[in-house]
Amino acid sequence: MSDQGLRESVDLMRQRGLGPEAIKVFEHYYEQLEAGALGTIAEESIEPLGEIQALGEVQVTDEEARRALSQTAVIKLNGGLGTGMGMTGAKSALEVRDGLTFLDIIALQVLALRERWGVELPLVLMNSFRTSEESLKILAKYEALAVPGLPLDFIQNAEPKLTPGDLRPVTWPRDPELEWCPPGHGDVYVSLVTSGVLDSLLEKGIRFAFLSNSDNLGATCDPDVAAWMVEHDVPFVAEVCRRTKSDRKGGHLAVRKCDGRIVLRDTAMVEDGEERFFRDIRRHSTFNANNVWINLEVLRERMTDRQGVLGLPIIVNHKNVDPADPSSPDVIQLESAMGTAIEVFEGSEAILVPRTRFRPVKTTNDLLVLRSDFFSLDESYHVVASSDRPEPYVDLDSAYRFVSGFEQRFPHGVPSMRECTSLRVIGDPVFGRDVTLVGEVLIDGYHRVRDHAVLGEPVQAEQPPARATRSDVRTVEEHLRAILASLEPAPTAPIPLTESLGLVVARDVRARVNLPGFDNSSMDGYAVVAASLKGAGPEPVRLRIVGEVAAGEDPGFRVGPGEAARIMTGAKMPEGADSVIAVEDTDGAAEGEVECRATARPGRFVRPRGEDVAAGAVVVAAGEIVGPRTIALLAACGHATVEVHRRPHVVVLSTGNELVAPGAPLGPAQIHDSNSSMLWAAAVAAGASAEIRTAVGDTDAELLEGLEEVVGVADVIITSGGVSMGAYDVVKSALRRKGIDFIKVAMQPGKPQGFGHLTGPEGRQVPLFALPGNPVSSFVSFEVFVRPALRRLMRLKPEKRRLRAATVTAGVRSPEGRRQFGRAVVSRSPEGELLASPVAGQGSHFLADLSRANGLFVVPEDVTELLAGEHVDVILLDGEA
Ligand code: AMP
Ligand code: MG
Repeated sequence: MSDQGLRESVDLMRQRGLGPEAIKVFEHYYEQLEAGALGTIAEESIEPLGEIQALGEVQVTDEEARRALSQTAVIKLNGGLGTGMGMTGAKSALEVRDGLTFLDIIALQVLALRERWGVELPLVLMNSFRTSEESLKILAKYEALAVPGLPLDFIQNAEPKLTPGDLRPVTWPRDPELEWCPPGHGDVYVSLVTSGVLDSLLEKGIRFAFLSNSDNLGATCDPDVAAWMVEHDVPFVAEVCRRTKSDRKGGHLAVRKCDGRIVLRDTAMVEDGEERFFRDIRRHSTFNANNVWINLEVLRERMTDRQGVLGLPIIVNHKNVDPADPSSPDVIQLESAMGTAIEVFEGSEAILVPRTRFRPVKTTNDLLVLRSDFFSLDESYHVVASSDRPEPYVDLDSAYRFVSGFEQRFPHGVPSMRECTSLRVIGDPVFGRDVTLVGEVLIDGYHRVRDHAVLGEPVQAEQPPARATRSDVRTVEEHLRAILASLEPAPTAPIPLTESLGLVVARDVRARVNLPGFDNSSMDGYAVVAASLKGAGPEPVRLRIVGEVAAGEDPGFRVGPGEAARIMTGAKMPEGADSVIAVEDTDGAAEGEVECRATARPGRFVRPRGEDVAAGAVVVAAGEIVGPRTIALLAACGHATVEVHRRPHVVVLSTGNELVAPGAPLGPAQIHDSNSSMLWAAAVAAGASAEIRTAVGDTDAELLEGLEEVVGVADVIITSGGVSMGAYDVVKSALRRKGIDFIKVAMQPGKPQGFGHLTGPEGRQVPLFALPGNPVSSFVSFEVFVRPALRRLMRLKPEKRRLRAATVTAGVRSPEGRRQFGRAVVSRSPEGELLASPVAGQGSHFLADLSRANGLFVVPEDVTELLAGEHVDVILLDGEA
């Protein structure tokens, strides 16, 4: 079966005109895949990289630098399409700053180096068939760039994408180009040979090449690395950078135990279950910057020895055939990574370089910082930071993810970020001109950001957190803000339509088909040529019936002048017919001839193809909430799934020795656990999915054991009970050590609150709410803090329920300095005004009155008494009163 897959793949490659070397390399990988190679590197087979040379400590004279540079070429991997940023052309053709694209800046960097050192320094791009033309057009501006005897680019090979089951080439008639992929950037070595560029370089006396990605403007051809390589006669050098906590992804180098060679382990090469080693930044303390230097003579020798197959480790990449459409079929792409060639050469080395040499633009978050005044270009066109502060951390909402959406929302240029440490944007505001961001900035729910706005608060180092400096009581707003600011939005995922109700669409959805898909009748009647009915009226016109079409039938016949076809609503119009006459205007004959008593004009009672929706049009935009009608539209437009912000999974865990499950017999001092069911229901009503775990007793061990299990499956954890001042308040004592904060919030009920994040498997941060145990307190706490958090995770707005103005029907008292959330039955007066009648039992244990209430009335902190007839704000719990 897979023999056939290989044969078919090779035939396709030949037909496409790919050379024998490219085919041979593909065969080599295919055979490895078939033999079950997973392309992974087990942790036990490697050791951390250990001590390596730092670039900063390399000492090179100007003459050594010049000499090394005079034998070096710059090769830029330029096949990237920027699909992740919604681009379809070469990513490097995107404007970076000052009207210059990546490619402009690369060209100018090379020209500046030539001038500074008096060297030829050729620049050659490795393009894919999709990026070549556009890229060369940009480089054409720089007349001096091309050097005699060398092209400005060569085209990398292509290979078929494979179907996972039978390993045969995938077919995708909708866009046959998507049946092909480049074989990863490891293909650069093969393509250098097959294109003849390797020989041309060597003929010109070029002995070294510096290879890097075109989206990494930090990767300039540093003469110090070249000189170091020459001096130590190293065949292959990989640049690595120190890893920080935020560098969880990306490959790292390590030493292979069996032969002492340096190897690269990329993300796709990690064995299942070993992610924790991969992410351990103390163990693997540097990452691969994907800037490599190679001795071209050694490369040629090696390629000749191995008959063109360098034998790089295979990477088995699982993708969708249409990368922009997660519901398209799964495919396997056989790839290799440029950096893995490090293991092929005896004596390869790694060199530690500053972070500034690794500045790839993978997302519009990266683009924003690069475009801003945090960076500038110096006279050599190097990207330099305006200060030595760390780069701002940026997290833009999904509306900005594609370059088109990004540009639309920064029509007057990007904000000043010189003083910014982090920016988080929730929602999709358009930014005005001359906006300045300072310190930590959270933009949430803005419609637009005003011209000249200055946003954010300078972060004062040294100062302890605000909470500790003031009293240890937080206001309701402070606590909610602290919770919301700590949440990462729920990941997006394509999910079946029937599970998407109420969720927020994460990405624009386009129609896959026309609506209607074909011209069809909007009436039961007869499909005719309008001209046939000229003069019809009291004096009928008779048409010959030539056939009949029901909905779902494809009429195989034509209707000509003087003819008619019986047709039903929704049935496809037969060829030739241009209109329908309603059955009411005829004698309704089923065969022979039909008498028609009305005229028609072309198009009458015909629903033309594409009238409702044109295939390819955006039918549902990112940000919309999926409702029944959205689902209808998506289904009609050919979608079985929709990409949404996922429903978070809430796990509820109650604590208390006194608790038994609802329905179970009660011991003398026991009560039924009602909070678990209540919190479960409240979470589901808020749009989350939820489950209840069996309540645990009041010991640290029981609670921690329970949570250990839960943290692996929950997106959000809610505990109830055990957070106040009692002797058995286990939640507080056990979780304080786990990084959960326990605070007093100025509210009633619900004063003691716990919130923080537990660390789950693979470092996942799981928010945990420790709510008080009294049922009313628990409920109010959920409403005030948990529900907004769940909505934030799902990107639902508004996060808080609106306050409504009401009149209180009885006097109430409220403690000074705390916001009271009382329970009330809210109704409407005959005049339509809202009335709030406080329930009798306002104590935190009155469940029956809680259940009777349909609203909360809110008494502000500075109000201690309300008289009957006074205004009060209410929150309606079950929708409209
Ligand atoms: P605690 O916060 O654990 O001190 O509990 C405060 C009050 O709420 C006590 O009267 C508990 O019995 C009650 N309580 C705690 N958890 C629950 C629960 N899951 N269901 C019903 N009542 C509870
Ligand atoms: Mg308790």
